[in-house]
Amino acid sequence: MQTNIRIVLVNTSHPGNIGAAARAMKNMGLSKLFLVEPARFPHADATARASGADDLLQNAEVCDSLEQAIEGCGLVFGASARLRSLPWPLVEPREMASQLVSEAAKLPVAIVFGREHSGLTNAELAICNALVHIPCNESFSSLNIAAAVQVLCYEVNMAVGTPVLEADDDSEIATSDELERFHEHLEKTLVDIDFLNPDKPRFLLRRLRRLYNRARLEQTEVNILRGILTATQKFGRK
Ligand code: SAH
Repeated sequence: MQTNIRIVLVNTSHPGNIGAAARAMKNMGLSKLFLVEPARFPHADATARASGADDLLQNAEVCDSLEQAIEGCGLVFGASARLRSLPWPLVEPREMASQLVSEAAKLPVAIVFGREHSGLTNAELAICNALVHIPCNESFSSLNIAAAVQVLCYEVNMAVGTPVLEADDDSEIATSDELERFHEHLEKTLVDIDFLNPDKPRFLLRRLRRLYNRARLEQTEVNILRGILTATQKFGRK
């Protein structure tokens, strides 16, 4: 189940931080490291700071985009040092860990960490089901990225040790790529029926993403919604 838990670092500038994050993961029994466009990798500083977790660096998957790194995931949390202008569902680390561990019994899941200087973009956050924030001194709330990886992986490791009660339910949660295709279909339909002006999207699409991410849609539900969108498009053309 731990092999279903991915740690994704987006656009990390300092290779030393990648090594320190790998070490933090291995200390907590995790091994799946994904790097989205790291500035410098592989690098001697990464290996030095990994101090023995170099196997995670060797097996790390280097990706071109966040979408690629979370492909197939049933649940994705974005780690954020600060709160955003559009409030996104926010959970505490312990709650995140319990949700991740129960989902990881079925599908891959991910925790996504942002850039050292600027964190995650709004578009990247919009792909996540929810944000996780490590409570701290809120006037100095930005932890070093490897320290943030350490705290969240610690919570995951604690949750792995706690048996989870599984609902007896064989419905499959939609994966992030299925949700992405749904959102593209939704946007296209809203433009087709003149509900959305593509030149002035404002917050509408992000609000809709927030709504559907909160619902944790199942595959059958995504199929129903996409069927409704197709019927709406056909009706609009008549
Ligand atoms: N200056 C950036 C912070 C970057 S710190 C900003 O304002 O967003 C690098 C990454 O570490 C963040 O993107 C986040 O993923 C993680 N991180 C740092 N502090 C955190 C905190 N208090 N809670 C959750 N994640 C945190």
